[in-house]
Amino acid sequence: MSKQIVLFCDFDGTITEKDNIAAIMRRFGPPEAEPLMQKILTQQMSIREGVGQLFAMLPSALKDEIVRFIARDAKIRPGFDQFVRFCDEAGIELLITSGGIDFFVYPILAGFQLENRIYCNGSDFTQERITITWPHRCGEHCSNDCGMCKTTIIRGYDPKRYHRIVIGDSITDLAGAKIADFVIARSLLEQKCKELGLAHQPFATFYDVIHILQNLQVSEEVKLS
Ligand code: MG
Ligand code: ZN
Repeated sequence: MSKQIVLFCDFDGTITEKDNIAAIMRRFGPPEAEPLMQKILTQQMSIREGVGQLFAMLPSALKDEIVRFIARDAKIRPGFDQFVRFCDEAGIELLITSGGIDFFVYPILAGFQLENRIYCNGSDFTQERITITWPHRCGEHCSNDCGMCKTTIIRGYDPKRYHRIVIGDSITDLAGAKIADFVIARSLLEQKCKELGLAHQPFATFYDVIHILQNLQVSEEVKLS
């Protein structure tokens, strides 16, 4: 029986060229933000706890300014528009699985008609400081305190029915990459896939991702719809 492709596509550093949380903190964060970001990257602190603490350093009144900054600063990786259309036309299920926050993920992706396919964290600006909310926390199989738990979403897709492909760039995609059937990777995630011998292909643009998917369909006879 042929399987249906489902894509779990990361946002920061994958769809956008840079990490938006890091960009926001560099621009608006106090000096204490930098060591806190290092703690998250070196896994001394869970992503949920660290990201929550980072945004708690910023006044809610900055919201509009941050959104304007991100709209100017964030660059979408070439070929993304074509990639979204390719998936639609080929009947490939595309999900955006992001550790980012709704108030910058949705504006950047506006115009791609992906609204009901986005999984990311939430935000609350009603208090003096920004509060991050966590509508997609870890399920019973994950104890990493991810915040937005990619593996929990991936596990929701039965591997008997689905060919599960992770697209990502970083350490936050690694747990998902380990349980996926295939990985399309750049940067640190590519390096980790090599080290661990995970089935993967590297990409630089979404034109590359389209080619990889086209070849995969031919070689594995994965059903499209
Ligand atoms: Mg990323
Ligand atoms: Zn988790």
